[in-house]
Amino acid sequence: MRTSLLVLLLSLCATAQTVKIGVLGLFKPQALELTPAPHQVLVFQGGTRRIVVTRTARVEQAGEAVRLIADGKTRSEAKWRVTARDDGPAIFTLAVPGRIHRTYTGVLTIESGKSLEPVVEMDVERAVASAVAAESPPNAPVEALKAQAVVSRSYFLAAKGRHANADLCDTTHCIFLGDPPGARHRATQATEATRGQVLRFGDQTLLAMFSASCGGRTQTLSATGGTPAPDRYPYYTVESTYCLKHPDAWHRALPKTALTVRLNEKTEAARLAVVRRLGWSTVPSTNYEMRESGGRFLLEGTGHGHGLGLCERGAEAMAREGAGYQRILSYYYPNTRIETVVPAP
Ligand SMILES: [Zn+2]
Ligand SMILES: [Zn+2]
Repeated sequence: MRTSLLVLLLSLCATAQTVKIGVLGLFKPQALELTPAPHQVLVFQGGTRRIVVTRTARVEQAGEAVRLIADGKTRSEAKWRVTARDDGPAIFTLAVPGRIHRTYTGVLTIESGKSLEPVVEMDVERAVASAVAAESPPNAPVEALKAQAVVSRSYFLAAKGRHANADLCDTTHCIFLGDPPGARHRATQATEATRGQVLRFGDQTLLAMFSASCGGRTQTLSATGGTPAPDRYPYYTVESTYCLKHPDAWHRALPKTALTVRLNEKTEAARLAVVRRLGWSTVPSTNYEMRESGGRFLLEGTGHGHGLGLCERGAEAMAREGAGYQRILSYYYPNTRIETVVPAP
């Protein structure tokens, strides 16, 4: 047992702790602008070319190729890899012109699919801090942020290869990612204080699910329509006192259709099928009562999200009452343990 744990820790230490994240895919970009951070350069590598860029460069989709326009010159390649001068991670701003811009530190690759497909390979700890900053309200207590950091790190490390060209994407499909927070940001501090720590179940790092608010009780995997397996974390239903006392209630009236009739299942799969077609806020959670009236379905529910694992609202309340992040995590993820799998600096 001890030996296998040691082997595990050594193998995890030996591999680079990076994660590949498909970014800005939601915008289906046809063109991107890349700007190096002040006093930095970007090195574009494609085929045998190596092009050093000091100012904003534009990248466009050109059929199956990717066209680079920099310093008045145009070159097309199947794939561009963008690094700092030493081939390591670069600091840059990536923009979908007129829509969004975001700052990243990492190695960027850009390929052409249905649209341009930018993927940033970044340090896991940096990704965790960005996810915690994006997921948590600014006034959340630091122990709740630490719990969120362990959950996000587990998710990143367990989610290898969810996409063809990346481990994860930066949408609700995988995990939200904001701009990286500064050194003094509480999300950064919570990430550093839990560096390398993940949730483990059996011999696996948990693909740790979490939701904004559970509606009073968290869900089991099978209750949300998931498929339990002996080696897969089943999730457990635990009471969230704060959410029971302060219900996060919602009401909806939806037309009765072949699609919405599926809501009788009360599964996450049925909810996702409906919200993908009718909008993300149509059915906020699977925790609802439903009745038919005048050709419509009337839903009365509580909670936001699938209700699996950590409830962010409940975790904040526990932290305000003095609970540490370990206690919050053992409460929302029974039968798991916290282990350090990334070496300390
Ligand atoms: Zn995804
Ligand atoms: Zn809750």
